[in-house]
Amino acid sequence: MIKKVIQESRKIVIKIGSNTIAKPDGTINPEMMRELASQCADLIRSGKQVVLVSSGAQVAGVSAIDRWARKKDIHYRQALCAIGQVELMDHWRAAFAAFNLHIGQLLLTKDDFMDDHRTLNMRNTIFTLVDEGVVPIINENDSVSTDEIKIGDNDNLSALTAVLWSADLLILVSDIDGVYDKNPKEHADARLIEEVADIAALRAGISIGSTNSFGTGGIATKLEAAERATQYGIPMLLANGSRPRFLEALAAGTQQGTIFLARG
Ligand code: ADP
Repeated sequence: MIKKVIQESRKIVIKIGSNTIAKPDGTINPEMMRELASQCADLIRSGKQVVLVSSGAQVAGVSAIDRWARKKDIHYRQALCAIGQVELMDHWRAAFAAFNLHIGQLLLTKDDFMDDHRTLNMRNTIFTLVDEGVVPIINENDSVSTDEIKIGDNDNLSALTAVLWSADLLILVSDIDGVYDKNPKEHADARLIEEVADIAALRAGISIGSTNSFGTGGIATKLEAAERATQYGIPMLLANGSRPRFLEALAAGTQQGTIFLARG
């Protein structure tokens, strides 16, 4: 099923989680970013279109400035994101430049999705970038968003983006193979669920454990994203990005994941 969905999808939104962007020591992982850019370049060469949603501004901020890692104060966290966003995009720019691809940055907030005029402008900008062969890279504008007005996690942001761009497929890249019946980091006997048609039934049937220190959303927000995307007819794939050429492996059917089937 995953193989078929990837092969049939032309417009793909790929969301990279903080757990994938960061190395275990909490610093940013440029090798992973280069590897992903290489896989995106291959997808584009094969006639597909790609929009990235990238987390990791705070991780990049801590790596860059090597201070404030433990500060909880909102102004310090927003300041870290302001520093880290530049750093993050600098890594993405270098990663894609190696494959002669330009990138464009969009920093969005919840308000942008609630205002028709802004939504139309964002949509037009994404379409123009993609049509011109540029890879849009989207993140929440954390330096201006306070908790009350936040989308809050990039799982939901990537689903909103997929709907906005009328994508054919949303791929969430994380550090686990998919959704399990219980947290695979805590239970060795956790069982991978490969296909989901009924998200409410899945939610009722699994136990959701905690995330590690870099993640903000966890499985709960991934299920919310799946709900948003699939109700607009967009399937969502949750997959592990820690192996090289994982997108190729998924497309070839040699790597497992969890596919949430589109409704309607
Ligand atoms: P990312 O930063 O990649 O978006 P998160 O840390 O937010 O990732 O969420 C993924 C984490 O959710 C996994 O590393 C895993 O430890 C945890 N998790 C908890 N419960 C489950 C479950 N039932 N199935 C899969 N993962 C789970």
